[in-house]
Amino acid sequence: MDKETKKDQKDGSLNEEKQNVLSESEVENYSEMEKLRRYLAQKLRLVDLPANDQNNESQQLVLSKLNLDGIVEYIKENTNCKIITMAGAGISTSAGIPDFRSPSSGLYHKLDKYNLPHPQAIFELDFFMKNPEPFFTLAKELLPEGFKPTISHYFIRLLSEKGLLLRHYTQNIDTLERVAGLSSDKLVEAHGTFHTGHCLKCRAPYTLPWMKEGIIPKCEECNEGVVKPDIIFFGETLPERFQILADRDFTQADLLIIMGSSLVVQPFASLIDRVRNTCPRLLINNEKVGTQDRLSRFLGLRQGLVFDVKSAHGGRDVAWLGDCDTGCQLLADKLNWGDELRALMQREHERLKVEDKSDN
Ligand SMILES: [Zn+2]
Repeated sequence: MDKETKKDQKDGSLNEEKQNVLSESEVENYSEMEKLRRYLAQKLRLVDLPANDQNNESQQLVLSKLNLDGIVEYIKENTNCKIITMAGAGISTSAGIPDFRSPSSGLYHKLDKYNLPHPQAIFELDFFMKNPEPFFTLAKELLPEGFKPTISHYFIRLLSEKGLLLRHYTQNIDTLERVAGLSSDKLVEAHGTFHTGHCLKCRAPYTLPWMKEGIIPKCEECNEGVVKPDIIFFGETLPERFQILADRDFTQADLLIIMGSSLVVQPFASLIDRVRNTCPRLLINNEKVGTQDRLSRFLGLRQGLVFDVKSAHGGRDVAWLGDCDTGCQLLADKLNWGDELRALMQREHERLKVEDKSDN
């Protein structure tokens, strides 16, 4: 074990990062790389180096510790801390909602009888126009009926109730944020939602309960068009609301929390780079994702999460590895909101149970 690693372990604040600490030879390589990077960057005018260097120092001070405690301290010290949360399938898996992007979910086996050209064809508009039945068969599996929001969903609602949530951006189409009581003005459903739908022919609007009737919902206005839930299919542009609010929100954020997303689907994934370069970013996920690639690192571009404190852009990103509910509850506990969060979920689940009963 080299000196750097020992030192870092002693102060105890970098435990999660220790596997990323550079060895001495790597540090040497790194400073050579850094020289080359500066040379290239100046020649190519890729980055504004003076501003960069100034920021390095302030960035080191953004978080006192690069772990959950550092984030908690930061939230407590910043009154009116404006937080953006970003979420993917990982916040809904404990609710029992299958991740339809994952081939291992077993979801696609239900579609065997339809002889699809390829599984994802059900989310392609051309295919849907010709044959909407496979989509609606799968939709029955994905619809939020009977599914209850998770601790992670209620954590987001709690942030909102405490006046700390600037906006929640979700990749999920399961509407569980709405079921959890997050108000629609705080919510951006980047990949659309099952909450509403439109006739593909005359654009007449429909609601989820209406769409649930029968197998393939046919428009009652024009009697011709199929009603498609407002979820975004492959090749469709993202909702206007996403474009407009993303432009406005991210530069204002004081803290970004990313939960349960593999950060691979664009343009959602690149939202993480739109916050100010002094804005801390917390990743709550089973594994490290969205990390800076070698080329951006070499060129000194601000792209991707940097959990390595030795990097020029390190010092503000924290990874907490594990499942989202555990991470959110732990964060709430550390903020002294733990009991409040548990009580909120219990109360809301009771309410949903009563509603379910009165529906049937
Ligand atoms: Zn119609």
